[in-house]
Amino acid sequence: MKKIAILGSTGSVGTQALQIIKQHPSKFKIIGLTANTNTQAMLAQIKTFHPQAVAMMNKVSARELTRKIKTLDRRYSRIKIYTGLPGLVKIATLNTADIILTSVVGSIGIVPTFEAIKKSKTIALANKETLVAAGQIIMPAAKKYNAKIIPVDSEHSAIFQCLVGENPQNIKNLILTCSGGPFRKTPPSRLKKVTLKQALNHPSWKMGGKITIDSATLMNKGLEVIEAHWLFGLPYENIKVVVHPQSLVHSMVEFRDGSLKAQISQPSMSIPIQLAFSFPQRLKNKKIPRLDLSRKTSVNQLNQMTFEKPDFKKFPCLNLAYKAGRLGGTLPAALNAANETAVQYFLQGKIKYLDIANVIKKIIKKNKQVKNPNLSCILETDKKVKEQTRQLLDSLC
Ligand code: MG
Repeated sequence: MKKIAILGSTGSVGTQALQIIKQHPSKFKIIGLTANTNTQAMLAQIKTFHPQAVAMMNKVSARELTRKIKTLDRRYSRIKIYTGLPGLVKIATLNTADIILTSVVGSIGIVPTFEAIKKSKTIALANKETLVAAGQIIMPAAKKYNAKIIPVDSEHSAIFQCLVGENPQNIKNLILTCSGGPFRKTPPSRLKKVTLKQALNHPSWKMGGKITIDSATLMNKGLEVIEAHWLFGLPYENIKVVVHPQSLVHSMVEFRDGSLKAQISQPSMSIPIQLAFSFPQRLKNKKIPRLDLSRKTSVNQLNQMTFEKPDFKKFPCLNLAYKAGRLGGTLPAALNAANETAVQYFLQGKIKYLDIANVIKKIIKKNKQVKNPNLSCILETDKKVKEQTRQLLDSLC
C-alpha cells in the first residue's frame, strides 16, 4: 500500500488523482491533502478519503474548515488542519507519506517540493513551475537525497515512458508534442481581439484556468521545454516542439540510430497520474479511455494524426521560454513569475491576450540575471518580478 499526499487536491489534476486512488483502494491510501480556498470540496474529500492531516493555503478558509469539521462526528476530530505555506510543507513532509503529488499551480510549489525531496519522498510532479524556476536546485537535491521525481505532465510522462530501459547517452532529441491551443488557426491580425472565453476553450484538454491560458499563448510548451531540460538533462538545442492538434502522441524520443519512440493514448491525464503512483508497475483500469484498434472510431482517430512546425512568430512566448532557459540563472524564474502574474490579470479580465507576451518580454529585458542562484535568490526573484509585473500591468489597466 503506497501512502500518498496531494498538494492541490481540489484542482484539475488533484481531483483526477483522487479518482485514480478511489479506483485502487488496495494499492493507494490518501494521508494528506491541501487546497487553496475551496473548503467545501476539501470537506467532501475528507469524508471520502479520511486523511490524517490537511492544509488550507488561505487562513480564513482553514478556520472555516476547522469549524465545519467540528460539526462532523468525533472520528474526524483527530484530523490535523494546517495553513499557509508552512501548512503545505507539513503535508509535503508527513512522515508516513511515500509519494507527494505536487499539483498546485505556480511557484508556490517550490518550497514544499524541495522539503519533500529532503525527506527522500517520491515526487509525482505535476507542478512544472517548480522545475522551471528552480530546476538547478531541485534536481541536484533529488539526487543528493535519493528522491525519485516522476513526471505527471503528459509530455514528460510520455518521454519518461519512452526512456525506460534506454541508455541516456543514446538520446538525440526529445520531441514535445503540442496541441497548438485554441488559436492555432487564428490569423495573427485577429489575436488582438480574442477574448478570455475563446482562450479558455482548449480543443483537446480540459484543465485548470492557468494552464489553459498558457496553452493558448504556447507558454505552456515553453515552460515544458525548460521542465524537460531539467528532468532529462538535455541541452535546449536537443529539445524540439512539434504541433500535433489531435493530442494522441504525447511526446517522442529520437535516438541516435534514427529510431523514434512515441507514447500514444487518448488525451487523458489518468494514465500519467496513475503511472506516477504505480511505477514501475502498470495497473489495469477500465475507467481510462482507450485507443482500441479493433474499433473503427479509434482507427479513424489515428488516421487523422498530423504534425507541423510551431509558429514562433505568432506565439512569442515559446521563444521567450527557450531564450530564458538557455540563458539560465534566475531568468527562467523571472519568466515564470511574469507569466503567472500576467495570466492572473488576463483571467480576471483586466488585460488583453497580447498583453501577456508583451509584458513578459519587457520584464525579461529589464531583469538582471543572477548566475548560479541559491534557493532564496530564486524565491526573491519570484517575489520581486511578480511585484514589478503587477506595477507594469496596473499601469495598463
Ligand atoms: Mg503538458
